[in-house]
Amino acid sequence: MSIQSINPINGETVKTYKEDSTEQIRQKIEAAQVAWQDWRRTSFEERRTLLAKAGTVLRERKNELAELMAIEMGKPLKDGVSEIDKCASVCDYYAANGEGFLKDEEIKTEASNSFVSFQPLGVVLAIMPWNFPFWQTFRFLAPGLTAGNCGLLKHASNVPGCALVIEEILLQAGFPKGVFQTLMIGSKAVKEVIAHPHIKAVTLTGSTNAGIQVAQQAASLLKKTVLELGGSDPYIILEDADLEAAAETCALSRLINNGQSCIAAKRFIVVKSVEEKFTALFKERMAARITGDPFDAKTDLGPMARIDLRDELHKQVLENVKAGAKLILGGTLPADSENDAFYTPTILTGMKKGMPAYTEEIFGPVASIISANDVAEAVQIANDTPFGLGAAVFTADISLGEKIAREELQAGSCFVNTNVRSDPRLPFGGINQSGYGRELGLFGIHEFVNVKTVLVK
Ligand code: NDP
Repeated sequence: MSIQSINPINGETVKTYKEDSTEQIRQKIEAAQVAWQDWRRTSFEERRTLLAKAGTVLRERKNELAELMAIEMGKPLKDGVSEIDKCASVCDYYAANGEGFLKDEEIKTEASNSFVSFQPLGVVLAIMPWNFPFWQTFRFLAPGLTAGNCGLLKHASNVPGCALVIEEILLQAGFPKGVFQTLMIGSKAVKEVIAHPHIKAVTLTGSTNAGIQVAQQAASLLKKTVLELGGSDPYIILEDADLEAAAETCALSRLINNGQSCIAAKRFIVVKSVEEKFTALFKERMAARITGDPFDAKTDLGPMARIDLRDELHKQVLENVKAGAKLILGGTLPADSENDAFYTPTILTGMKKGMPAYTEEIFGPVASIISANDVAEAVQIANDTPFGLGAAVFTADISLGEKIAREELQAGSCFVNTNVRSDPRLPFGGINQSGYGRELGLFGIHEFVNVKTVLVK
């Protein structure tokens, strides 16, 4: 069995990798467990030094890594470079803060000493997606390894080159062998990995369907999971919003990574009185983005990551049009659609409950505009979703915006007058069908630890 990277610009196979055999998988899991016995006893000083070095290696190699992403999943070079910088920043962040986040917490009782200690769990399996091949992995591994865990990466099958180079970067930074390894496997082989007694927990970023399957198996073995799944983030535009700024931010958020981001804005809920004006401004900005070769510096949007994903997206667009949505931009396949994965920015208006994109996630550069009569209805529509990852509201009334963000929107990250984005300092994750658990910040590093109570009489 093999795993291939296929260039989404022309459908050509870039490289073919041999899948790990059952025996190789077993050896890697055992090597991770052996490595963990030493790694869990290393000092924070040592972990901090290695993590900081990983950040340095990332910065030194960022152009080469961005090229790899461009070839394997179509990300424009400039976005690839930013992604690698962000990975370096999460290494810096946990190098600076990890020890403080994990220090013992004394709790006064009648005993002579009682405290909480944060101890590593062991070997954690990370199942990662292709959309941010480095960032998704580093936001797990930086806190995960700082906490004293070891990691095994099962990356998406279309980014095997990225998967292997992540292991290489950590070795280059000086991490001991076995602390972080890549498994070259497809999703079918994941079951046997989760079932292995040395695997203590699983983190998955990907589709809700994959999350459910992994969580079911892990739960049957009582293994902890963190799930970062899909989203259909609503962005509410109120009557008093700065419409120019809102349109710019909304286009930016919808088109981040060519729309292939869990926290991209997907549904734009606009109060009726400003819908026409907002739609015109938004369309201008969506149309201005240049789609093309990811290696060209002028390109804003490369191809989508895979031809099958683009075909699925186009099918969704057509289904919505059939259900009554109006197409006001894009929505067509490129001339050579059998061999490339391009799809240009697309806008659907007149979206209503019952149309597929009202509830389904649209994972590509397609925006859905839904109109609302007033603030209350806008919030109701925003929450009328199975997902709950991010949400945003645009208004000149900051206290109203804050109230809506804090109390009304049902999602893990709710932003006012700006786009939802992950930040090493802020916890990130969802509710409902968007998953559970948190990555990043203080909460992220506490996911894969044994919150151990120690009491001395
Ligand atoms: P998947 O969810 O299928 O893939 C994500 C990761 O999970 C990959 O490593 C994949 O491996 C693995 N995986 C998939 N199914 C299983 C399973 N049953 N058991 C164990 N591991 C599994 O995403 P797709 O690539 O198919 O993309 C489709 C949709 O997923 C998108 O349209 C979007 O909705 C969502 N998605 C969400 C992301 C997010 O950031 N939340 C990121 C990427 C996708 P393999 O590649 O070998 O199948």
